[in-house]
Amino acid sequence: MDIDWITAVKSTLSLLKNAIGLVKDAKDLLPAGNEKTVITQTLEEAEKAAKLAEVQIAKSLGYNLCQCTFPPQIMLSIGYEVYSERFKCPNCGKIFPNKRPPKTPELINMV
Ligand SMILES: [Zn+2]
Repeated sequence: MDIDWITAVKSTLSLLKNAIGLVKDAKDLLPAGNEKTVITQTLEEAEKAAKLAEVQIAKSLGYNLCQCTFPPQIMLSIGYEVYSERFKCPNCGKIFPNKRPPKTPELINMV
């Protein structure tokens, strides 16, 4: 995977999200009516599409995804525990991997 390409797409997505935010602010100034409803729905779809694209990039970069929402949440590193890195969902707080699996009696007997 070409990282420069991903950086360019990420920058474009960031600009798109900023543009969506600006249009949302402008939309609030419109009087209630059909136009405002259509603009609101279109903005919601654009936000969802931008989030999906962001998730695809995160996935291609090896990030873990939490499926508590759709589009999925991108789990971020919270550091290492013993030998493995742990990740946390910014939405629901889920930790991955949660805990090391408990030792089974067979493993305890082998030690
Ligand atoms: Zn989650």
